[in-house]
Amino acid sequence: MKYWGYFAAKLIAIAALLSAVWPVFRMVLPAPQPFLYEHLEQMGHDLWYTALVYGFWLAAAGLVYLAVLDQKYRCRTCLRRLRMPIARGSWSRLLTGRPHTEYICPYGHGTLKVPELHLTGKEPNDWAEHQDIWTELELLDTHRR
Ligand SMILES: [Zn+2]
Repeated sequence: MKYWGYFAAKLIAIAALLSAVWPVFRMVLPAPQPFLYEHLEQMGHDLWYTALVYGFWLAAAGLVYLAVLDQKYRCRTCLRRLRMPIARGSWSRLLTGRPHTEYICPYGHGTLKVPELHLTGKEPNDWAEHQDIWTELELLDTHRR
């Protein structure tokens, strides 16, 4: 819930920023000139206005893309950025050990596997939550005995 709440907060912040910037752009642009005593729609007839709308839309899409990309590489538990990417698998063992990159939370909450090979379309990232580190160490110790 915290993970998706943070993502929603980022989207709301982007929407607030864009809705604050858009009126400023509208004020900066000069008023449209009448053409043959008729006021035409600005979009598609005024070059600067049309270019501004397209640039604004591109910036908005870029901000949403950056928010999604940032969210993808965050810990699902503590929301910290995942670190220490390590290449795993091999291109020569496609059936048993596909190549992928693993990222871990610096506080040990989990591991994110990002596949490098997409055979049947876009394969989803695999988030594996870790248990408590002391529990895992005790399990290792009991398996040795
Ligand atoms: Zn974490």
